[in-house]
Amino acid sequence: MGTLTLRNPATGEVMGTLQENSPEEVHKAMERARLAFGHWGSTPVSARVHYLRNLRHYLVEHGEELAKKISEATGKVALEAYMTEIFVTADTIRFYEKNAERMLAPRKVPTPIALSPKKSSIHYQPMGVVAVISPWNYPFQLSVVPVLSALIAGNTVILKPSEITPGVGVLIEELFQAVPAPQHIVQVLHGGRQVGQALVAARPDKIFFTGSVATGKKIMAQAAEHLIPVELELGGKDPMIVLEDAHLERAANGAVWGAFTNSGQVCMSVERVYVHERVYPEFLRLVKEKTAALRHGFPDQAEVGSMTSPQQIGIVRQHVEEALAKGAIAELGGSFSEDGMFLPPTILTGVTHEMKIMREETFGPILPIMTFSTEEEAIRLANDTPYGLNASVWSQNKAKAKRVALQLESGNVCINDVIISFANPNLPFGGVKQSGIGRYRGPEGLQAFTHAVSIIHDPGKKKREINWYPYTEEQQTLFVGLTKTLFGKGQTWNSRNLLAAWREWKRLF
Ligand code: NAD
Repeated sequence: MGTLTLRNPATGEVMGTLQENSPEEVHKAMERARLAFGHWGSTPVSARVHYLRNLRHYLVEHGEELAKKISEATGKVALEAYMTEIFVTADTIRFYEKNAERMLAPRKVPTPIALSPKKSSIHYQPMGVVAVISPWNYPFQLSVVPVLSALIAGNTVILKPSEITPGVGVLIEELFQAVPAPQHIVQVLHGGRQVGQALVAARPDKIFFTGSVATGKKIMAQAAEHLIPVELELGGKDPMIVLEDAHLERAANGAVWGAFTNSGQVCMSVERVYVHERVYPEFLRLVKEKTAALRHGFPDQAEVGSMTSPQQIGIVRQHVEEALAKGAIAELGGSFSEDGMFLPPTILTGVTHEMKIMREETFGPILPIMTFSTEEEAIRLANDTPYGLNASVWSQNKAKAKRVALQLESGNVCINDVIISFANPNLPFGGVKQSGIGRYRGPEGLQAFTHAVSIIHDPGKKKREINWYPYTEEQQTLFVGLTKTLFGKGQTWNSRNLLAAWREWKRLF
């Protein structure tokens, strides 16, 4: 297997190397995870919560140091690393501490009268070994949050972080080693695509994948061979709709932050802006002024840091160059030096849906803006995409904002804000269309790491049931009578039904 280089993308400094795990090591990790599941799966949720609490304490104590290391491995601004990787993770742990026991507790559900006196309940059982495969843009949080969600639900976990930010993979491994836990409930494998493929081939009981649409499809196809359930958190091309009555200064601030935070390398970045034509000139003036004021440079001194992945720079460059060649105007930025990891925050106007910049995920610090004249047109443009991860609607009219929000084909929508729906651990998160399959976070998201086992419990006192053998004519009469009474237009029992019911009743004991 190959060797990964730990490099600071902003400075180019090489901080070390790391050996990729071999297929045999992946196989061994799976064996250890299966053994560990034997115990962890039956550990009470309260004990699992205790482990998470210790992790939270460690995270909070070492948060700034961890954020600095994440910043060095990604080129992101240290404050952003702290807010989005450390704070969000600690907040999610707190959410589980408060709610996991309730969300995973067995739930009684009603039983229809025809099944009386049985009782019904749902039990959330752990699945086994969960494989978490994660990307490089929020390499800490997008690894640790799914890992902890799987763990608290009673699974053991094998994590394969991104090979683009291997230093963060090492950091996560150290974190799990620093906080005492039952052996092998969580293991970290290092490496790229081949290690990911080997992990899928080792047949985990669930795959939780965050990354690109292209990889998501490959993983789903490989998982399909063994019907392994997959959850896919994929890319986006998030639209921002600025209606005529929006608070324009807030909208402009939101657009600038939403497009340029983490250098635009956010699955929920503002990647397309649609502004009502009447407020467009003022909106454009404001976003230009605010973008021009951003401090761009080394992550310890700036508001916009470097890019993380050299490959991504090629895609961003290609999208911008194609847009400019087709008639777009660079209101700010737009020209990139041949090498280097810093891309200037760029505002484009004159863009159309015939350009990649409005159709494909760019994942860089680019803010393309179009106008619209009617609400219907804005909705049509926003939905004209294969993606559906997040979106935002800006208006001071609550009813109007909600009306537009609910017509967007999107897994998440923010009103008068961007990206932030992810920050509330009560809200399920995930995409529609090509942005993914499944939800994590919120009660649904935690239960997604379990099998919902339905139990129906009969007291077991009767010798048979009315639907069992031997079949009789009375059963037919009884079921027709029951169907008409329970589901028909108000018909009640006639004497024939009553007689059949009485005869059947006697046969039960
Ligand atoms: P990627 O798909 O290239 O890689 C993601 C992970 O998959 C990496 O760990 C990689 O090693 C692994 N991998 C690659 N090929 C594999 C294979 N065949 N089998 C198993 N594993 C394989 O994605 P990326 O470039 O790291 O991340 C950027 C993408 O992630 C963007 O599209 C972004 O929008 C998306 N993303 C989505 C979310 C979300 O929550 N929806 C969050 C962050 C990023």
